[in-house]
Amino acid sequence: MAMARRQKIRNAAILLSFLLFPITLNYFSPYLIIDAAAQGIVAGSFLTFSALFLSSLFLGRAFCGWVCPGAGIQEACFAINDKKVRRRSDRIKWMLWVPWIGGIALAAVLAGGLRAVNPLYMTETGTSVAEPANYFVYFSIVALFVILSFAVGKRALCHCVCWMAPFMIIGTKIKNALRLPSLGLKAAPEKCKKCGACDKNCPMSLDVSKMVEANRMKNGECILCGSCIDNCPANAIKYSWKP
Ligand code: SF4
Ligand code: SF4
Repeated sequence: MAMARRQKIRNAAILLSFLLFPITLNYFSPYLIIDAAAQGIVAGSFLTFSALFLSSLFLGRAFCGWVCPGAGIQEACFAINDKKVRRRSDRIKWMLWVPWIGGIALAAVLAGGLRAVNPLYMTETGTSVAEPANYFVYFSIVALFVILSFAVGKRALCHCVCWMAPFMIIGTKIKNALRLPSLGLKAAPEKCKKCGACDKNCPMSLDVSKMVEANRMKNGECILCGSCIDNCPANAIKYSWKP
């Protein structure tokens, strides 16, 4: 099946975001948030993660599917390894995230609280990779994306490591519990031909056809990329904005 226009736009968006990563890197940094908190400062990545949490109350994890700078490089790696990632890998990121959040809170408490906001903390020029020493950090992170993709499978870092995903998973669960009008998926199980195209094309290795069969399309790992929608020959899946 020819690639749908929507997926071409999505691919262009995540590729562009990856190309801008040398500029945006610090605004997604899991390290600078702690370093700044230890001095009582709210860094740029603190603001980014807060914005991602708020966005997820209405858009779920659409950021992961359409904007994340790590998405383009990981989906490019599908050409080398398109193995599905097992669901139990999803737990690993929580084991990293909980102590990390605890570390940020502890750093802020020991500093006597957060007293200042500096979105350009350690990013004075606004560009993250501004001097040769920053290349080491940049290429280390890019290498982590690539090595995990090659070794484990599709979007492995999203499943096993991502420190941003939990903010949006929590936000998604809150929006679902409160039944907020928000972006989601809707299935028409009676239309499904059980061809498996949605399973094959899901970049998050979800069992989409089983979700359709059960008419349960809510899943914390769904990044609302629309790939299942655009590859379904029976139009059995759609975006929805209803609670
Ligand atoms: S279930 Fe569909 S929208 Fe969600 S991640 Fe998989 S392909 Fe993308
Ligand atoms: S791609 Fe569509 S028709 Fe095929 S299994 Fe998935 S939902 Fe059913």
